[in-house]
Amino acid sequence: MRTIETSLEMKEWAQKAHREGKKIAFVPTMGALHEGHLSLIRIARKKGDCVVVSVFVNPLQFDTTQDLNCYPRMLHRDLKLLLPLNVEVVFVPTVAQVYTKGFQTHVNVSLLSKNLCGKHRPGHFEGVATVVLKLFNMVEPNVAIFGDKDYQQRRVIEQMTQDLNLGIEIIAAPIVRESDGLAMSSRNVQLSADERKRALILSQSLRMAKEFFFQGERSAKKIIEKVSEMIDRERPTKVDYVEICDAETLERVSEIQRPVILAVAVYFGSTRLIDNITLGLYDID
Ligand code: AMP
Repeated sequence: MRTIETSLEMKEWAQKAHREGKKIAFVPTMGALHEGHLSLIRIARKKGDCVVVSVFVNPLQFDTTQDLNCYPRMLHRDLKLLLPLNVEVVFVPTVAQVYTKGFQTHVNVSLLSKNLCGKHRPGHFEGVATVVLKLFNMVEPNVAIFGDKDYQQRRVIEQMTQDLNLGIEIIAAPIVRESDGLAMSSRNVQLSADERKRALILSQSLRMAKEFFFQGERSAKKIIEKVSEMIDRERPTKVDYVEICDAETLERVSEIQRPVILAVAVYFGSTRLIDNITLGLYDID
């Protein structure tokens, strides 16, 4: 496992791999790795001849400096976790490497960035799309894996890849959860024991919504009301949204007649958690 810190070295390594006819599979992360990230890397292992994992906390996608400063960083531990996974390269560029002096070009995936987290975190998806395009240009992957934990992010990257003719296959990976249902997230370490317990309501309410859907409920409003009620009972600090959106366009729907996602973003303490579930991808009658 080789650690690369500069974009130049990364590009040279990628071009050599391509000359040797190797397929590069890429997993971009912000570190503080957990089983969710590792599941993506295992998929990458199957999809490519060599695997590159990046660890880069991207300042451009944070809406407050406090959130950026508090984001967990544990590179030493991350490298230890990666060692048994047969990763060829861990790419750990510095901020100065990624955003060189005078940097001013941004990628805006306009419609898909509008709703959900895009509405509540202005500039977030522009930061995500910009850094992912830059990392793609440095790593030159054939395939890249993104988790559906960040469903909107995955859709934004798919659209950007298509719109800009990047020719990279984007693979979606399912959400990995703790045994009690909490979606794994680097941010979970910021939760107090009490907040963590209350946060279980997110996955529980999404599961309950799926039950309603199975029982025939197709009104987005009714499902959203029930989910919101359940979440409110656990006294969240703030609810950014509970929404039902078309699984492709992420536009809000009122009647569920095609595949949708039910997505939530909720604060417990100062930690913002997101979770989602698909309704109707395999189960619309
Ligand atoms: P992050 O380090 O949070 O930026 O995430 C890096 C990648 O890991 C993204 O594609 C995320 O969607 C994915 N990821 C994060 N948490 C999970 C999870 N619990 N299950 C599956 N993928 C995840």
